[in-house]
Amino acid sequence: MTQEELFKVLVAHCKEYGFIFPSSEIYDGLGAVYDYGQLGVELKNNIKSYWWNAMTRLHENIVGIDSCIFMHPKIWEASGHVSAFNDPLIDNKDSKKRYRADVLIEDYLAKIEEKMNKEVEKGRRKFGESFDEEQFRATNPNVLREKAKYDAVHQRYLKAQNENDLAEYRQIIVDCGIVCPISGTCNWTDVRQFNLMFKTSMGSTADASSTIYLRPETAQGIFVNYLNVQKTGRMKIPFGIAQIGKAFRNEIVARQFIFRMREFEQMEMQFFIKPGTELDWFRKWKENRMNWHVNLGMGAENYRFHDHEKLAHYANAATDIEFNFPFGFKELEGIHSRTDFDLGNHQRYSGKKIQYFDPETGESYTPYVVETSIGVDRMVLAVLSHSYKVEQLENGESRVVLSIPAPIAPVKVAVMPLLKNNPELVALAQEIMDDLKYDYNCQYDEKDSIGKRYRRQDAIGTPFCVTVDHDSLNDRCVTIRHRDSMAQERVKIEDLNSIIRKEVDLNILLRNLK
Ligand code: ATP
Repeated sequence: MTQEELFKVLVAHCKEYGFIFPSSEIYDGLGAVYDYGQLGVELKNNIKSYWWNAMTRLHENIVGIDSCIFMHPKIWEASGHVSAFNDPLIDNKDSKKRYRADVLIEDYLAKIEEKMNKEVEKGRRKFGESFDEEQFRATNPNVLREKAKYDAVHQRYLKAQNENDLAEYRQIIVDCGIVCPISGTCNWTDVRQFNLMFKTSMGSTADASSTIYLRPETAQGIFVNYLNVQKTGRMKIPFGIAQIGKAFRNEIVARQFIFRMREFEQMEMQFFIKPGTELDWFRKWKENRMNWHVNLGMGAENYRFHDHEKLAHYANAATDIEFNFPFGFKELEGIHSRTDFDLGNHQRYSGKKIQYFDPETGESYTPYVVETSIGVDRMVLAVLSHSYKVEQLENGESRVVLSIPAPIAPVKVAVMPLLKNNPELVALAQEIMDDLKYDYNCQYDEKDSIGKRYRRQDAIGTPFCVTVDHDSLNDRCVTIRHRDSMAQERVKIEDLNSIIRKEVDLNILLRNLK
């Protein structure tokens, strides 16, 4: 199966098993808006708990808040979103499809990079152990040709970005012969800037003064509450404020399932620090966040940093943590050193003094900020796309399994009586359910053969199935089956809880964090 096919199958699987549905489906859906079903919401809540607890419980100096989606419209002037939260869009005149000009160019560059990497892999196979990658890259004519092409386009692109030169974006697209994947033509419109914020109006009179925005990020809710939290929590710098909440962006191109949605959820933490210490904290937060990801056990090789060459208007250092999605390495989380841009601007726009008084040095200053910002939905997609597997079994059959890291799996245990018509088996299975349900999200399942029930639980990623059979009535033992190895063992009912806990307890993940 190609990665593209795998992605399609995954989207269908998410719908079939109640993870994610297209929004308003009975009205043919709404572009790039998705609803979470009965299992999706459990997975999402578990991811949020992992993040929230890692931030607020494991750091004495980080506290959480929950600010509103609606905020004073001046906030978005101060933050720069009214004037600068734009994407460059371009239309193909033949297909009438709309694209982000920057993404077209970046995808083109990524393809050249891929070609170079393929040449290198060929060389590695050819020369075996004596292969010297550095020398090969410096001398192989095919690699050098691609590298020259890459560098030329890359330099033009950086310059166009820095100068915000929209005509040059178009020229690069035309010169590189980048075509629309639908029409296959190079018949492009000019590039225009498009503001991504959704507008609505508040109150009964719809004049300009009542225009408000749906927040495009949760961060500003933290900045405008900086003073409240610092004072009431008697917080001393360095300290952080964390928040999980909805954000809205009128994305131009939204064709990648929950990777790019128009309504999505963010988990953001703003860390307030003394000016001059920001690069040190930036490095520490990079490391901390990468640990959090790798700790989930989805393979360190599936993550990488991508340092920004063009910095956003507010940043003096920025990196993305990219994940190996089915469509390649793409941004999962951003870590930005935002200087005093936000607090400084809110001070100017609101006229209120937003400063920190350092009791040790006696000086006052506007704190600097390092932020970590991750999309909940992208995290859900990372987990699902990594976990989805079709496995060939020894008996010639195959199974679909979601090997979701056990502590964040939506359902932890399925309890099954061997036969649904036997009241004694059903009663004992219910007794086990009634005991476990206080600790774990459990499912009771009595329909179909045990084999079919196992398959159903594999397909939703349940780490444990517990089967009650006739012997259980006498020896008070049950069969516990492990999702990944499919191994089955006979255990005492009284030991079940501790066996399950060892694998599914979120605290174990948290304790593993360095
Ligand atoms: P991209 O370059 O992919 O548009 P971004 O750099 O604009 O993302 P940030 O503004 O840094 O993203 O937002 C922080 C995080 O919020 C991202 O790393 C991502 O996980 C998430 N995010 C941003 N936009 C979306 C979206 N439209 N749908 C889902 N998640 C999103």
